[in-house]
Amino acid sequence: MSFSTAAAVVRGAGKPFTVEEIALRGPADHEVLVRVTAAGMCHTDLTVQAGHIPFPLPAVLGHEGAGVVEAVGAQVTSVAPGDRVLLSFTSCGACASCRAGRPSLCVAWLPANLLDGARADGSAPLAGLDGSAVHGHFFGQSSFAELALADERTVVKVGADAPLEVLAPLGCGVLTGVGTVLNVLRPAAGESVAILGAGSVGLSAVMAAALTPAGRIIVVDRVADRLALARDLGATDVVDTTGADLGEALAELTGGRGVDRVLDATGVPAVISAGIAALAAGGTFAFVGAPPFGTTVPVDVNAMLPGRSLVGVTIGSANPHTLVPALVRLHEQGRLPVERLVTGYDFAQIQEAADDMHAGRTIKPVLRFAARH
Ligand SMILES: [Zn+2]
Ligand SMILES: [Zn+2]
Repeated sequence: MSFSTAAAVVRGAGKPFTVEEIALRGPADHEVLVRVTAAGMCHTDLTVQAGHIPFPLPAVLGHEGAGVVEAVGAQVTSVAPGDRVLLSFTSCGACASCRAGRPSLCVAWLPANLLDGARADGSAPLAGLDGSAVHGHFFGQSSFAELALADERTVVKVGADAPLEVLAPLGCGVLTGVGTVLNVLRPAAGESVAILGAGSVGLSAVMAAALTPAGRIIVVDRVADRLALARDLGATDVVDTTGADLGEALAELTGGRGVDRVLDATGVPAVISAGIAALAAGGTFAFVGAPPFGTTVPVDVNAMLPGRSLVGVTIGSANPHTLVPALVRLHEQGRLPVERLVTGYDFAQIQEAADDMHAGRTIKPVLRFAARH
């Protein structure tokens, strides 16, 4: 089947999002046609728009979609038309990691979510109305559109009353911050946690750390408003690096012992190096923020010997099918106030949302789509 829909297309590297009509070809057997009601914007969308990740353009981006199932492919069993869903990331479903319930480690993660711009079989879910190439399948969804063709493995069903305009970012940014703390860093009673970067990932990590027995939650950023919000969300200490040396500040806050668990959400090599140098013996440092491909940081090998670990984390090392529903419940209970991060924009304002995100004027833009019946 072929449908047309309004979608935000990026025509080339560095070009703006422009809303235009495109064609959708599906749903394929394992796909779900979703009427998108809200979609979060994440730094990865902007990185691809800028051409820093080699995703084929023109393309429809968007990977924090939320909406209502309109139709399902012949093999889809987990959702039905009318279900409300959140969209997260896709995976092959067949490799050892997927079979072990760890889809964020899928062997096909990078091509399936970020590089190919097409289905695993190479077919194109999207096209221009004239048949020209428009790449899609971004994170198995390409949800900056009124209708999206989502891989079933990307789709997580939520309750009929779930507030999609608030919960859309659960699929990537919130899952990444919360998952890294709960699945990977797992601070023990009284341990210190440092979160480098107070954007949507870092602030989600703060909310998660506040749910653990960590003794100290230190948040590092250069924007005073974000540090104030971090305190509201559970930070016990904040460091404004516009006026302080990060290494010295972390040493001072931990009495010279170092930090037990560090999460870097900045991807900035100098910040990463300072964070690694600040690790306590036995401590763990998590790489979460992604710098440009090919970025390296030096590591003092001898300094690692006292039980220090460095670990890379994709999407919070989460299985969205178990963690997203848990986060929906935490939000319902008031224990995960995601709404504090969200600023709403009409879909037509998508480039304005991107500009505001670039300028640091907004933490988590969520695009809202006008209801159509
Ligand atoms: Zn896999
Ligand atoms: Zn993302």
